[in-house]
Amino acid sequence: MYLYANYDLKERNTFGVSCKARYFVEIKHASAIPTLRQDPKLASLPWKIMGGGSNLLLTHDLDALVLSCNYDEIKIVKEDQHSVWLSVGAGRSWHDLVTYTVEQGWWGLENLALIPGNVGAAPVQNIGAYGAEVQDTITRIQTFDLRNGQRIELRKNECHFAYRDSIFKHELSNRVLIHRVTFRLLKQSTPNLVHEPLHEAMFVNHPNLKLENITPRMVYDAIIKLRQERIPDPSVLGSAGSFFKNPSITLKHFQQLQQQYPDIPGHKLTNGCIKIPAAWLIEKAKWKGRRVEDVGTYYKHALILVNYGKASGKDILNVAEAIREDVINHFSISLEKEVVVW
Ligand SMILES: Cc1cc2nc3c(=O)[nH]c(=O)nc-3n(C[C@H](O)[C@H](O)[C@H](O)COP(=O)(O)OP(=O)(O)OC[C@H]3O[C@@H](n4cnc5c(N)ncnc54)[C@H](O)[C@@H]3O)c2cc1C
Repeated sequence: MYLYANYDLKERNTFGVSCKARYFVEIKHASAIPTLRQDPKLASLPWKIMGGGSNLLLTHDLDALVLSCNYDEIKIVKEDQHSVWLSVGAGRSWHDLVTYTVEQGWWGLENLALIPGNVGAAPVQNIGAYGAEVQDTITRIQTFDLRNGQRIELRKNECHFAYRDSIFKHELSNRVLIHRVTFRLLKQSTPNLVHEPLHEAMFVNHPNLKLENITPRMVYDAIIKLRQERIPDPSVLGSAGSFFKNPSITLKHFQQLQQQYPDIPGHKLTNGCIKIPAAWLIEKAKWKGRRVEDVGTYYKHALILVNYGKASGKDILNVAEAIREDVINHFSISLEKEVVVW
């Protein structure tokens, strides 16, 4: 275990903004926590957890100890005729894990291919894409209490998973470090093609394709192609993916907006509210592809804020606030950030 002082996190966040952590350390095992706690200069600081930095906006230097988990083993912990249970270290790259499961022919993670970041962060915002969420496959999560290194295990129903949300964004935020996540994957299944563009992509070149002939690999390949067409590669253009969540509003509010914007998209949730694509709202507020110095929204996807090179975290936050205000003024809808701001 090596403790870095005044550590620049520029290479560790996908916005590519410079920000120094007073201390930075990578840990593998629970025993590292009491060891670090014994050091009075570290014990007196706030502790913050970071994975691959792909859902973070760093707006100032951090007078903190930043911890990252680099335990990355994949273990089969149980298997039967239908399923396999994998326990995966938090430090494993998410996309590597998806690739590994697809190569085994297992179903469950294929719709979540090419999402940046590490396994440990996947439950934090319950990552989701193309009609799937990671909560669909998680069975339990092993964590370390940051006060003393004590192991705490949470079952899925204790994680309070919701749309881009979980207990790890609230009461357990920077209180427990996720060390391992257990997933249940299926040996046989049918593809999840509820997302229309994915459905189209699967059948466009194979109109006679039968559902039972589709493999996890085929879905994975289609997802990668769709994402590469639409989402900027963070190694080329800095971003954190979607900056805001898709808001939900009351049916009454939606009907009022429909009078002014008859083409407003929305889909009904089980609680009767209507979820609206934030990208549509931002585009209507004339922000799609707009650039303010080195910050802009991506020309193909208005929900993605990008750093054209030299933007600071504060510059990005200022543009995000300007977008949020414009959306409030146009639609009386307050966008909530999906990205975690430090
Ligand atoms: C180009 C691009 C596309 C994206 N597409 C999607 C998408 O389709 N769907 C989606 O849901 N997200 C998407 N994201 C967002 C991001 O990739 C995910 O949220 C990812 O899970 C973040 O992982 P990370 O390791 O980078 O976490 P970080 O950004 O480092 O951290 C995110 C949060 O998790 C906490 N955290 C991280 N690791 C741990 C741990 N081990 N224990 C406890 N807390 C921890 C941090 O404190 C922070 O609050 C995208 C991002 C980019 C850049």
